[in-house]
Amino acid sequence: MSEQLDAPIVIIGSGFAAYQLIKAIRRSDQTVTIQVFTADNGDDYNKPDLSHVMSKQQLASDLVRASGMEIARELNFELHANSYVDSIDPEQHKIKVVGKAYPYAKLVVATGSKAFVPPMSGKAIDRIVTLNSLQEYQAAEQELALAKRVLVIGGGLIGTELSMDLATAGKQVITVDPCDQLMANLLPEYIATQLRKQMQQLGVQFAMSNKVSSINSSEDCRALQVELANGESLIVDTVISAAGLLANTQLAQQAGLAVNRGIVVDNQLQTSVTDVYALGDCAEIGGKVSAYLQPALVCANALAKTLLGHETAVVLPAMLVKVKTPHYPIQLAGQAVHQVNRWQLDIDADGMSVQAFDSRDDLQGFVVAEQHMNKAFGLLKRLGKAAV
Ligand SMILES: Cc1cc2nc3c(=O)[nH]c(=O)nc-3n(C[C@H](O)[C@H](O)[C@H](O)COP(=O)(O)OP(=O)(O)OC[C@H]3O[C@@H](n4cnc5c(N)ncnc54)[C@H](O)[C@@H]3O)c2cc1C
Repeated sequence: MSEQLDAPIVIIGSGFAAYQLIKAIRRSDQTVTIQVFTADNGDDYNKPDLSHVMSKQQLASDLVRASGMEIARELNFELHANSYVDSIDPEQHKIKVVGKAYPYAKLVVATGSKAFVPPMSGKAIDRIVTLNSLQEYQAAEQELALAKRVLVIGGGLIGTELSMDLATAGKQVITVDPCDQLMANLLPEYIATQLRKQMQQLGVQFAMSNKVSSINSSEDCRALQVELANGESLIVDTVISAAGLLANTQLAQQAGLAVNRGIVVDNQLQTSVTDVYALGDCAEIGGKVSAYLQPALVCANALAKTLLGHETAVVLPAMLVKVKTPHYPIQLAGQAVHQVNRWQLDIDADGMSVQAFDSRDDLQGFVVAEQHMNKAFGLLKRLGKAAV
């Protein structure tokens, strides 16, 4: 027990969620011992920048704001870089890394998410590129710089941003999605249609209501031969999968923590096990996984207080999502697609906005495009606070 009392706060992961938590702890307490165990090198970068590295001609190294060593020194924590955590033992209050056990007083799982690659056949599936981390981009940056023809699997938020960026960088882009419209879970059809038109003007081609069924190397092995579900065959240089994210929950699951789509936490971010918390893309709060920066920031601020002895419940405010499609900029909040009773569409020469109302005729979500983005903050206020 005394070992437990002396033990540090241990954080698994060195992404946005982990570093925001440490910053919040350090604002109130400069001395509590914090150890970070991370599978990568701990470098600090802004993951959303990965959406526009091609048009900005940036290398992975250009995105690094501080090396792992630098940020560990600045925020006074012990960094265990390149240290994949193999298991958690909640009873013993220990984690294991390559057979060695490390004790914790409180443990925060901030293991993020991994890119989903839809099932398909073929011998070149291992050549599919994903862009959900700096390391993934680093591994693919040369290939992407040289590629002329790129197929993007996924027309959701990230797939759409990447497709526009690749086209802006002069690549021939084809975007494949099983839905018949872009960002089908976020955008009402009318705005999605305008976005698609803008992307077509940039040269993006679409294979909507379609899927990749197989990927093989081309005859000369230099390119990739992609078969689509509708029988079409394409030759491309690179395939990127941006078909969604899956929370990294295996570690938690093996340790017996409750897991659903993410690691299930209560409104204080505690998992089903005492002294173990989850934060960021891997956490499921109130039945929802919110893989965005703002909820991670709000949660990190609340969790810092809880870890320092002031139990604090998280209240997530309505959040504005900025879609990084600069040729047709969009902002949205709330739920503007599903379970909508009626939509109100406003269009003029400056752009368009859509407000979505529920069965009580309360605003439940909105999407604003182009100059109509100046309405976003007013509408966000009307959406109010959505308590967890
Ligand atoms: C291309 C792209 C664009 C985006 N754009 C936006 C945007 O515009 N706005 C927005 O709000 N959000 C955006 N997001 C989402 C946002 O970036 C993420 O929600 C956020 O970065 C997740 O942070 P995280 O710390 O939870 O996870 P991550 O950054 O994924 O960090 C997880 C950490 O856990 C470590 N790890 C995992 N397993 C283990 C293990 N077993 N042992 C040790 N370490 C482990 C990893 O090495 C990593 O350090 C975007 C995401 C992508 C991919």
